Amino acid sequence: METPDASTPFPSGAPDAHDALVALEKALDRHRAPPIAELLARRGLGPYRGYAGMLEAMQRLAAAGAVIEPLGHSVRGEPLLALGFGAARRGRFARTSVVVSGLHPLEWIGIETSLALAGRLVGRDLGDRSVLIVPVANPDGVLRVDRNLREGRRRFVRHNAHGVDLNRNFDARWGHRGLLARLVPSVFRAGTRAESEPEVSALAFALGSRRVDRALSLHSFGGAVLYPSSHQLRAPADAEEHRVWAQRIAALADDRPYRVVQGSWFALGATMGGLELDWFHERHGALSLLVECSRGGFGLRPSRALDPFAWFNPPTPHATATRIARAVEGFVTGGVTVTGRAP
Ligand SMILES: [Zn+2]
Repeated sequence: METPDASTPFPSGAPDAHDALVALEKALDRHRAPPIAELLARRGLGPYRGYAGMLEAMQRLAAAGAVIEPLGHSVRGEPLLALGFGAARRGRFARTSVVVSGLHPLEWIGIETSLALAGRLVGRDLGDRSVLIVPVANPDGVLRVDRNLREGRRRFVRHNAHGVDLNRNFDARWGHRGLLARLVPSVFRAGTRAESEPEVSALAFALGSRRVDRALSLHSFGGAVLYPSSHQLRAPADAEEHRVWAQRIAALADDRPYRVVQGSWFALGATMGGLELDWFHERHGALSLLVECSRGGFGLRPSRALDPFAWFNPPTPHATATRIARAVEGFVTGGVTVTGRAP
């Protein structure tokens, strides 16, 4: 057991933990706003919390024992924060699982799933494993969605403040443009070079010296679990090990199991470059999965069909996030598979 630093109410064994808490506090001061959940529920979008609510949740997790780590800043200077669990305080030698959500700013169900998972991990003994969760990987984009929701604007938002799709900016076959990127280049803008965006370069730098052997990225809304590779049609050598985990998660995530598919086949054979899914797999040698959380929330109400927020987010954030968090927990905490069978 580590003893908490006496100078703060939080454990601060990790370097910069105090600075990160200060950065979190300042961000909250800048963006404090009335709760948004009731407003969204009235509109049929479901009781989602806004950006300030996400920061408050991170603050509560820190008070309960999560270690907040500063990774860097967004284009507009918002702090990019990770929550550390388990052996995080023992530093860089622990085997590490990384969970990322909110790269695409409309996909709030992924952020809710991250926070639900964090709630399940806080205070737990994870053995020699460290888990790092980055709930809001694109804070500028999420803030833009937050403002749109408050002001009743129905907008599709996919980029960071530079207009870049952060999930095309990772250094894994960056710049490879498949069919989709050629058809709608403005949607999948990859940036000026690999890791040109501060959000992606901060994440890559922070993880560069860690032993990342499991990675999970949370998106929405395809009801699917994806595994590498996205940039080529051929399956990687360790496809079977990925599939075992993907199938387990797919079966637990919903009553009707999710689809399990290699990234490049998710969009009918349209290959994609610069994805986090491939970067974790190729750069770190990690088992890397991408969950398309839920099947969205088109529903039957016409108001939902016209609202991009509803496309990406089911109207039941709590139940959906809790269920997916439980489904991915074994993978994230380093559970083992047995000769090709789900554990
Ligand atoms: Zn996405």
